[in-house]
Amino acid sequence: MADILFENTLTGRKEPFVPLHKGEVRMYTCGPTVYDFAHIGNFRTFTFQDVLRRFLRLRGYKVLQVMNLTDVDDRIIQNAAQRGIGIREYTDQYIQIFLEDCRSLSLEPPEHLIRATDHIDDMVRLIQRLSEKSLTYVSDGSIYYRISKFPAYGKLAKIDLSGIQPGARVDVDRYEKADARDFALWKAPKPGEHFWETPIGPGRPGWHIECSAMAMKYLGETLDIHTGGVDLTFPHHENEIAQSEAATGKPFVRYWLHAEHLNIEGEKMSKSLGNFFTLRELYEQGHKPSSIRFLLASVPYRRQLTFSLDGLQQAASSVERLRNFVYRLKSEKFPAGESSAMAARVAQAEADFQKGLEDDLNTAQALAAVFDLVRDANTAMDRGEFRSGDAPCALAAMEEFDQIFAVLPDDDAEKLRALGFQTAAGAEISDAEVDAFVAERQAARKRRDFTAADQIRQQLADRGIILEDTRDGGVRWKRK
Ligand SMILES: [Zn+2]
Repeated sequence: MADILFENTLTGRKEPFVPLHKGEVRMYTCGPTVYDFAHIGNFRTFTFQDVLRRFLRLRGYKVLQVMNLTDVDDRIIQNAAQRGIGIREYTDQYIQIFLEDCRSLSLEPPEHLIRATDHIDDMVRLIQRLSEKSLTYVSDGSIYYRISKFPAYGKLAKIDLSGIQPGARVDVDRYEKADARDFALWKAPKPGEHFWETPIGPGRPGWHIECSAMAMKYLGETLDIHTGGVDLTFPHHENEIAQSEAATGKPFVRYWLHAEHLNIEGEKMSKSLGNFFTLRELYEQGHKPSSIRFLLASVPYRRQLTFSLDGLQQAASSVERLRNFVYRLKSEKFPAGESSAMAARVAQAEADFQKGLEDDLNTAQALAAVFDLVRDANTAMDRGEFRSGDAPCALAAMEEFDQIFAVLPDDDAEKLRALGFQTAAGAEISDAEVDAFVAERQAARKRRDFTAADQIRQQLADRGIILEDTRDGGVRWKRK
């Protein structure tokens, strides 16, 4: 198999991927700040990193991934205080919601999903290491990183520091590129604020130190891959590099992979612009988890993705097309034998699929390989050229594709029920009940009682179940 190429933000080039430890990939993903529902722009990034880890696993790597949960920051402290509860209690509920959302999108859980507030000691020790190297200073009880002491500052985001005033400080965690300044590693408590009593004084960690400390604790001082949304490049990831590399003297991350924005009506979807959808809003409108996952995964991560409800409908039909094809493979009676042409066609699709993903996770190219196969195989089936012996290898290919895209299992209704949504009426009728009705209708058809058969079809339709008669006299059903 050919090399995997990743576009590395640090070098600005596509580079062959070679992990530091043979057969194992260590990667870190900036997780959510758990102060509210995540929106689907956030889930675009999380879906990208899921596709990444699934592909690495498909290629035989063991993946060790850490994702942090930022469960302390200005907004969390403020919101918790407003509600009169502790920050732990406040963030617990949003962590729960985040995990449920991830499950609904079939995002594989990282090996370590960890909370910032469980790692205060690790952050304090890292700040102490930086202080021992004279990279920090104290002002009003807060500890700042002196960026003029780290000459490589700006190498990730490609910013020129010549115009920066030494000693200019910034207290907030998020700021614009033009404002490269000394940033807070440790923040002195404001009156009434939640704080930790530590050897470096009372206070709480800045956002950036969190990721450096937690990444290095679980993955070692040099990581293979660090992922995140493109807007984290500066200042967050730049600061992670400054903190980690100044402390260890080693490269912090070998491949930086950044997912582009998800846009809506020409603008970046964001909390601050108020132009966002949460997953649950889309579920409430009747959209399926599989359509959302498909849409988010279908556009290569380095390209901006324009979100629209039309696009979501198209994603739903694409998923349906894949599921119908697999259903045909499993249930239709094909003429006996095998066709070498079809075996070759399937092998070609598998090769093209890999080739797409090898090229910096080009999911659009990989999906094109899948849909071309589906089209060609469907045509062969319609012409009677597809043989029963061709089905197992076509099915195996579809299952391999689904190790990345994870949309084939027809489990949307079940996932929505798990989130407490009342789905279409069909959700309330069990699979076994539907099967019983279908068997009854088949019996009616057999004795040519078409009135009874039609009645059953109608009854099921009223409950959100759609029946499709197949070419070989069978029936397939699905929920609306
Ligand atoms: Zn981070």
